[in-house]
Amino acid sequence: MPDSNTDMPDKKMPIYLDYQATTPTDERVVAAMLPWFNEKFGNPHSGDHRHGWVSEEAVERARGQVASIIGAKPKEIIFTSGATESNNLSIKGVAHAADPSRRHIVTLATEHKCVLQSCKRLEEEGFDLTILGVRPDGLVDLDALADVLTERTLLVSVMAVNNEIGVIQPLAEIGALCRERGIYLHTDAAQAVGKIPLDVNAMNIDLMSITAHKFYGPKGVGALYIRRRPKVALRAEQDGGGQERGLRSGTVPTPLVVGFGEACAIAEREMPTEATRLADLRDRILGRLREALPTMHVHGDLDRRIPGNLNLSFANIDGQDLMMRLDGLSVSTGSACSSAIVEPSHVLQALDPDPALLHNSLRIGLGRYTTQEEIDRAADDIVAAVSSLQSASQIYEKA
Ligand SMILES: *Cc1c(COP(=O)(O)O)cnc(C)c1O
Repeated sequence: MPDSNTDMPDKKMPIYLDYQATTPTDERVVAAMLPWFNEKFGNPHSGDHRHGWVSEEAVERARGQVASIIGAKPKEIIFTSGATESNNLSIKGVAHAADPSRRHIVTLATEHKCVLQSCKRLEEEGFDLTILGVRPDGLVDLDALADVLTERTLLVSVMAVNNEIGVIQPLAEIGALCRERGIYLHTDAAQAVGKIPLDVNAMNIDLMSITAHKFYGPKGVGALYIRRRPKVALRAEQDGGGQERGLRSGTVPTPLVVGFGEACAIAEREMPTEATRLADLRDRILGRLREALPTMHVHGDLDRRIPGNLNLSFANIDGQDLMMRLDGLSVSTGSACSSAIVEPSHVLQALDPDPALLHNSLRIGLGRYTTQEEIDRAADDIVAAVSSLQSASQIYEKA
């Protein structure tokens, strides 16, 4: 018998509802990866022998699978360690390859920190940066975007799907605005690939960042799509052996890349049915919560949104108190704890909601393994926690 005091894994795990943070690797993906750790371990860049060739073939097959899910050509995909690296490489790499007459970069206030920080780094280097606000529904205002574009604008970087509020930006419209003016469009598609259909040509996307672990692939691998026609000028940001067309030196990790490719193939096949199932579950929990908690607020547009995301606030309660009562659920708050003070997220702040709703938001992320039973338990837990906190705060107000 295991000692119950030391056997941590025996403790019941909460219900996982944080699929925007990461996803478990699909068993089919793990199975596809396994032979490439030890049985077929050759360096894919070893051109002198069969061990290398076998690995290279696997890497190229995966490149094709990644290209396919976004309508790209395999030659337009380079492998990286994930979306953070792809965002850094695309934004800085385009800036560092640019003509001096184009020194203006445009991005959104609701972007992931790695996009915002990369842009701010370039601003320190002398580039001009416009950080555009969003509408209260979280979507970009296309007229406001068109207004800030000039003949000096080099790059627009707008995420496909927001990681906190799940809203889908109008990429095709943004792509058309950019293409007309000869401006590159980069999109951080970490939360979009495998969830919504994407087509780099129909949407006029020039650069796209992808990461495997947000859609049931392994952590530590991703890709950057770089358009070849019209060609995007990009400078490498890492020096070395010149792998990945000289743009990303370093040995390509065959097992991770094979898993990434398999995750793309599965998502491409299963996306329509999975999206319908998740939308039904999402509507179910939303309906239950709304019925029991009529003052609940949903952050971000509900229609232009991926099916697996909700971001909610409840009046008159404190976010920390709420999280303490939800220890049976692995959900995320919209806040970041920086040096002991709890800061509302920059994304929610950009939506400019009633300030009372900024400090108690809850992000619920549903995914491939979420069941109806889990959703119902989560709804019950949230209703119980919020109701008891709200009635406690009413007692305080009366006293
Ligand atoms: C997760 C995420 C990232 C970071 O991706 P990593 O592969 O973990 O570096 C970047 N942008 C968005 C929108 C994300 O959701």
